[in-house]
Amino acid sequence: MITKPKGTIDITGSDSLLWEYVNSVVSTMMATYNYEYIRTPIFEASELYHRSVGESSDIVKKETYDFKDKGDRNLTLRPEGTAGVVRSYLENKEYASPDVKKYYYNGTMYRYERPQAGRLREFTQFGVEVLGSDDPIIDAEVISLQYKILEALHISNLQVNINTLGDEESRIKYRDALVKYLEPHLDLLCDDCKERFKTNPLRILDCKVDAESPILKKAPKTIDYLTKDAKERFTTVLKYLDLLEVDYEVNPKIVRGLDYYDHTVFEIVSLDSDETRQSVLGGGGRYNKLIKELGGKDNYGIGFACGVDRIIALLKEIDLYQNVKKEIDCYVMYVSEEEKLNALPIVQNLRLNGVVVETNNLNKGLKGQFNEADRLDAKFLIILNNEDLKLGLVNVKDNHTKEEVKIDISEIVDYIISNL
Ligand code: AMP
Repeated sequence: MITKPKGTIDITGSDSLLWEYVNSVVSTMMATYNYEYIRTPIFEASELYHRSVGESSDIVKKETYDFKDKGDRNLTLRPEGTAGVVRSYLENKEYASPDVKKYYYNGTMYRYERPQAGRLREFTQFGVEVLGSDDPIIDAEVISLQYKILEALHISNLQVNINTLGDEESRIKYRDALVKYLEPHLDLLCDDCKERFKTNPLRILDCKVDAESPILKKAPKTIDYLTKDAKERFTTVLKYLDLLEVDYEVNPKIVRGLDYYDHTVFEIVSLDSDETRQSVLGGGGRYNKLIKELGGKDNYGIGFACGVDRIIALLKEIDLYQNVKKEIDCYVMYVSEEEKLNALPIVQNLRLNGVVVETNNLNKGLKGQFNEADRLDAKFLIILNNEDLKLGLVNVKDNHTKEEVKIDISEIVDYIISNL
């Protein structure tokens, strides 16, 4: 038997109901915050990720799915959403818009990671990218939108861990201080961190292996190296978050290893989920330098990405979602070919009027159809028989109260809709 590739999942049964539910909450919230849906290709030129995510990042060094197509082009399955959105913004000259561009996406990402709980090779993220504004109101909107979506999904005990990397000047000062501090302790860090020290020392603070090392715990904090402007900007973002009722904690360890971040960086966690199952649901930050890096003019950008697979895993633990079951409104029953010919238009009419309907698709007898209707938890049974049909009537049975009435065929849609 052919099985699915390592690190991928099938979404079926009650899981797929949860996925549809999450997707509908996401798209509704995005619409009310006035975010535009964007769909970019699942593969892009490899160079896009080398220039955006960064040559020295774990993602580009170890985790991308790279391939050559038949035209000898170097392509990569997208490991994240930001680079593609910024590429599209530049390629389609959306920067010419007089308004801030607010995009959201929801799609699969690909990273060649060691599969484990909360870590897949094909996984789904929804996220936003806001391009063209440096106003702290946007930092606050993006963070609160992520927070409020998770809250709307009934995920409790949410906390945003937030930090700032400051502007270019603050970053350089901080980087120097960090390098000076780490240099004498290098031999106590893991091999990857020794490498990171040369390529991107900030990423050492993100290291999972050395996370508990006392060396890192005592490392200098970005917040102590901010310029006056960067500090004021961060204070303003926090003030706005207070107004928007977002529970946050300033956490100097959040540096978000990707090369393109500056100013606000954040992660969102549910304090309810246990450590082994990866409590970080999403994160993001400001990336004002990225647009120039990808060939644009000086501009501003900020975004977040949230992992849907981890959200679903959490939701499955909550009582509210444990027995998610699909119910249908009507099951239309028939036996003879003549009854079937009458059933078809009734089924279609109801469906086109928004009623969820199923019918006998396997030539079952009446008993088999009653059983199927029960399995599907149908609210109403519409039972067709030749005698009643001759009089233009059908039987409608309320499957819960077991009450049965005869209804004129022309009134069936109205009857069902008004009794649902
Ligand atoms: P990142 O783009 O690495 O900042 O990840 C943002 C969010 O996407 C994480 O907090 C996770 O919820 C999710 N995520 C990242 N990588 C994976 C993965 N390999 N498998 C499942 N979810 C992931």
